[in-house]
Amino acid sequence: MRRKLVVGNWKMHGDIKSNQLLLNDIINGLRDYKNADYVVCVPNPYLFQARELLSDTNIAWGGQNVNQHEQGAFTGAVAPHMLTDLGCTYVLLGHSERRNLFHETNLTAAARFDAAIKANLTPVLCVGETLAEHDAGLTEVIVASQMDAVMATLGDKEFAKAMQLNMVFAYEPVWAIGTGKTASPAHAQAVHEFIRHRIDRRNSDAAAHVRIIYGGSVNSKNAKELFAMPDVDGGLVGGASLNAEEFVAICRLAN
Ligand code: PEP
Repeated sequence: MRRKLVVGNWKMHGDIKSNQLLLNDIINGLRDYKNADYVVCVPNPYLFQARELLSDTNIAWGGQNVNQHEQGAFTGAVAPHMLTDLGCTYVLLGHSERRNLFHETNLTAAARFDAAIKANLTPVLCVGETLAEHDAGLTEVIVASQMDAVMATLGDKEFAKAMQLNMVFAYEPVWAIGTGKTASPAHAQAVHEFIRHRIDRRNSDAAAHVRIIYGGSVNSKNAKELFAMPDVDGGLVGGASLNAEEFVAICRLAN
């Protein structure tokens, strides 16, 4: 039985004062919930604050992206060890906003995935199709290409390390992100099953254990049905993670 996982993605939102209120409410709301894993991915300047408030709680914190280089002349970039220095255990990779707005590619996602696992960060690799791709019946082709680009770069040793770190896949149809339009539980299940089969081709143990979470307008009203699907192991939550009541309610549904 896979333990459910809920990851909040704050994107570029927050400030010291509002973060403190939000995190305290989340901490209090989830204090007694021990049967699932909870993570918040906050903007880099607030990782210090996350560490201060979330240490010794049942909530982990992570970055929203990481650079593949260890150090050097990469203005504005953040290296994997900088995230672990601040206590991060997770990192989002290949989010569609990174791909679409910042021109990141399958290749950069693969390099960053590799760098993340070398630094002992659990990667959450985001995959998903655009509306045009969905309407053209290309969902599986796109998801497979995004997954394969990363999987193909991992040798057996790196793959074993990724398994040991409990790598996560997040299926995030681009048309459902921030639109209020959620994939139906049946659609999410079908794609999650496809992702699991694709991993099974490489390693059946990994396929059985890997957590595949769904992202795209998850809220406290639709989470129950989505989380009830056999291959949906939790959620990646954007907008609703900025509202403590909503986020706690979603996390409780995963518990
Ligand atoms: C996301 O940012 O990964 C996301 C799923 O956003 P939202 O929940 O707002 O659709």
